[in-house]
Amino acid sequence: MYEVILERDDCTMCGHCVEIDETKFTFDDDDKATLIGAERDDNTDELKVEDASIYEEAEENCTGECIEVYEED
Ligand code: SF4
Repeated sequence: MYEVILERDDCTMCGHCVEIDETKFTFDDDDKATLIGAERDDNTDELKVEDASIYEEAEENCTGECIEVYEED
C-alpha cells in the first residue's frame, strides 16, 4: 500500500500529471491539480493506492515538486 500526497498550494498548473494519466489527476475549480478520489486536508490531497507506478511517474515529472509517494507497511 502506498500513500500519495499532492500539496496543492505548490502546484504550478503545468499539467504534466494530467497528461500522464487523466483518470488519476485532473484540475479542480481553482485550476490546481487534484488527485481523483483523494481526501483533502488543508489543501493537501491524500490518497491510498495499491499500485503507485503512475503516481511515481507523475512525481518525477512534477515541476512544482508537490507530488510525493510513500510506501506504507
Ligand atoms: S505535475 Fe505537479 S505542478 Fe504540474 S499540474 Fe501536476 S501537480 Fe501541478
